[in-house]
Amino acid sequence: MSFPIVDSHCHLDFEQLSDDLPGVIARANAAGVAMMVTISTRVRRFQRLLDIVEAHENVYCTVGTHPHQAAEETDVTVDELVRLAEHPKVIGIGEAGLDYHYDTSPRDIQAASFRVHIEAARQTGLPLIIHSRAAEEDTALILEAEMGKGAFKPLLHCFSSKPELARRGLVIGAYLSFSGILTFKTAEEIRQAAELAPMNRLLVETDAPYLAPVPYRGKTNEPAYTAFTLAKLAEVKAVSVDDMARATTENFFRLFTKARKTAAFT
Ligand SMILES: [Zn+2]
Ligand SMILES: [Zn+2]
Repeated sequence: MSFPIVDSHCHLDFEQLSDDLPGVIARANAAGVAMMVTISTRVRRFQRLLDIVEAHENVYCTVGTHPHQAAEETDVTVDELVRLAEHPKVIGIGEAGLDYHYDTSPRDIQAASFRVHIEAARQTGLPLIIHSRAAEEDTALILEAEMGKGAFKPLLHCFSSKPELARRGLVIGAYLSFSGILTFKTAEEIRQAAELAPMNRLLVETDAPYLAPVPYRGKTNEPAYTAFTLAKLAEVKAVSVDDMARATTENFFRLFTKARKTAAFT
């Protein structure tokens, strides 16, 4: 890998990775992954993310409540998210959204939390990291209605929906981030979604420790494996790996305007 890439979504605070954080980050850097964003799932555990990003120059974080935890954190307000996002290493809001596959939180509570995060994204101007699983229609309806009330910057992370959500997301300016699922044999519809997205709206991520790409499928995922998803995305878009690396990295810095390029990118 000659051009440095970014893992736009991982969970370095989860114990599978936090137990060996220096090793995880060193292996990522060695594999050309020069920057990582560790994504918040619980505002009440946000300090753990700050401890990580303050110790590592090339790691940034977000702040927000995952839809699985929405029922645990109904007291999180727009003002609180906006205030926490003032930290220089907080570069996005989320992950928030709708997960009807697990339905860990009641759907109306997931939707209310999603809207709180959208408003925080609007007020801060930071990208909103959207988690959507088995909830395509409601995700699209909320995003479209909210975009009509005032602009924000949507990122559909770990894109694993039908091409229709990609289409509707692209219309409102969303970026699409692809994970290791893109490399799975059965992921034909997800590859179709990638095909219809323009090069300047694509990002890559691991969502580590979950969803390791082929050839590590089923194992603990880590940011170093971003390159496998990137290579598959290049194949789907019929461009070179280097061109895809350049495009996704440029897209990352265009979307995440608070992220500062480290020496690896210059
Ligand atoms: Zn997610
Ligand atoms: Zn995640």
